Amino acid sequence: MHNNALLVIDYSNDFVADNGALTCGAAGQALDKHIVKQIEKALFLDEFIFVCNDEHQENDRYNPEALLFPAHNIRGTWGAELYGKTGEMIRELQAEGHSRMIYLPKTRYSAFFATPLDAMLRARKVHHLTVTGVCTDICVLHTVIDAIYNHYSVAVVENCCATCIPHGQEWAIAHMRDCLGAEII
Ligand code: ZN
Repeated sequence: MHNNALLVIDYSNDFVADNGALTCGAAGQALDKHIVKQIEKALFLDEFIFVCNDEHQENDRYNPEALLFPAHNIRGTWGAELYGKTGEMIRELQAEGHSRMIYLPKTRYSAFFATPLDAMLRARKVHHLTVTGVCTDICVLHTVIDAIYNHYSVAVVENCCATCIPHGQEWAIAHMRDCLGAEII
């Protein structure tokens, strides 16, 4: 579907690897093969892929997250690099200059906040988003809220989302389905 885009949110070492600063651990690592499948599907269907990844400055006291969470995804560090097979695949696409894969750094939970995501989606006539990544109840949720408010239709792929917060997965999936109208697939 040409008016669909895949979003891959925060699938970085800090959020997924065993020794990541804010890791989802095994639950996050289990997503890797499923996100790879979603990327393969998007490539096959010639859809856009937006890789939206936290890139924080060290000791940024003006970012409200800094008071709440340990330092994570510091720009240019191992922690901010994309994890696993998903990361390898995205780096290969970047290296070959794939025109439908776009990497967008972000500094807040929502991939829409202070990024060109909405403008880039509109320019490409994208109306439907397939959302994957972490954390389900933080950056995925806030991105889905902004997507719905910006009138995109949204499908969240349940086996492609995880969180480091106990009970956050079930709560966020139900919230996105029941309070935001996202389709859960
Ligand atoms: Zn962050």
